[in-house]
Amino acid sequence: MVDLLAQYAHIQADIDQAVLDVVKSSKYINGPEVHKFSDSLSQYLGGAHVIPCANGTDALQIALMGLGLKPGDEVITATFTYVATAEVIALLGLKPVLVDVHPETFLIDVDAVEKAITEHTKAIVPVHLFGQCADMERLNALAEKHQLYIVEDTAQAIGSDVTMSNGERMKAGTIGHIGCTSFFPSKNLGCFGDGGAMFTRDQALADRLKKIANHGQSVQYYHDIVGVNSRLDSIQAAILNVKLPHLDSYNQRRREAAHRYNQLLATQTKVNTPVEVGYSTHVYHQYTLILDPSVDRDGLKQYLSEQGIPAMIYYPVPLHEQKAYLQEGDVRFPATESLCKHVISLPMHSELTVEQQEHIVNHLNQFLNTHS
Ligand SMILES: *Cc1c(COP(=O)(O)O)cnc(C)c1O
Repeated sequence: MVDLLAQYAHIQADIDQAVLDVVKSSKYINGPEVHKFSDSLSQYLGGAHVIPCANGTDALQIALMGLGLKPGDEVITATFTYVATAEVIALLGLKPVLVDVHPETFLIDVDAVEKAITEHTKAIVPVHLFGQCADMERLNALAEKHQLYIVEDTAQAIGSDVTMSNGERMKAGTIGHIGCTSFFPSKNLGCFGDGGAMFTRDQALADRLKKIANHGQSVQYYHDIVGVNSRLDSIQAAILNVKLPHLDSYNQRRREAAHRYNQLLATQTKVNTPVEVGYSTHVYHQYTLILDPSVDRDGLKQYLSEQGIPAMIYYPVPLHEQKAYLQEGDVRFPATESLCKHVISLPMHSELTVEQQEHIVNHLNQFLNTHS
């Protein structure tokens, strides 16, 4: 699905040097590389504060801890997402309220969010799924009207730009109150292990998040609030310092690869290629097709795998059908339930070649044209 070795090969000398420098410095935790990365990423994000942490799931957890919510408070998020989004809500004793997504863009359905708001709702966690942003302008308006917080899950959309109706361009993760991202190796900006970060434009909130991520202290051994231990280590930060300047070109290459897939699949009637929303650039964390219901998806995945072509189902089971996240009553989310049955994601990364894509699409066509 990704080719991390090929990407490393292009920047190997810089990465090796950066890692070795940290090893020789012996400043493995909270070294200068971590501060340099926070500053560079902050600049990239148009000045939002950056609080690094250990992974994307921690980022979401610490963000929600920072909002001072009470047990039982409701947090609305999409049922079509990676489990981490809802997991941290439940873990903190808050109530995950799941809503459906748009059937073509995979993004949280803002009308559904509006209907789900009650007097107990305190926050919304939109997920910028597969690499383009949820409708932040409408979500921000809802949040303002109902006095809610917005925590953006931007683990799959770092570097994506949103154009607001006044023409202002803002980076994914800097539009709500807090943005949360992951530097898991296969993400668009991946390190060589685990890593994550939070973004916010609010100085007081930034201080609080930083404190929570560091055992609730801002002065060592003086613990004002209950926190956690969640750090980005210096070696990962050093790797990210090498990779951050390449992020825009990595994302551009993903976009070009996606558009090439679209062209190659233009005459294939049994798939729907991804739909781009107008207001957000797409950074194609995933290239996800919606198959015609007549297609035997398991058969297709199996066939591709036999040809040495990986394909993945993101996600096979919606959160509201997971034992841990069953909702009250017999709720149905038709768009998500249909997507879970018919989506398939093809290999997508910054190093995909035209030949590889042609090979993948030839085999995809071969199966679709003979098996249904
Ligand atoms: C990857 C991911 C996360 C979690 O990130 P980790 O670093 O693996 O903890 C959260 N939300 C979404 C949408 C993700 O894709």
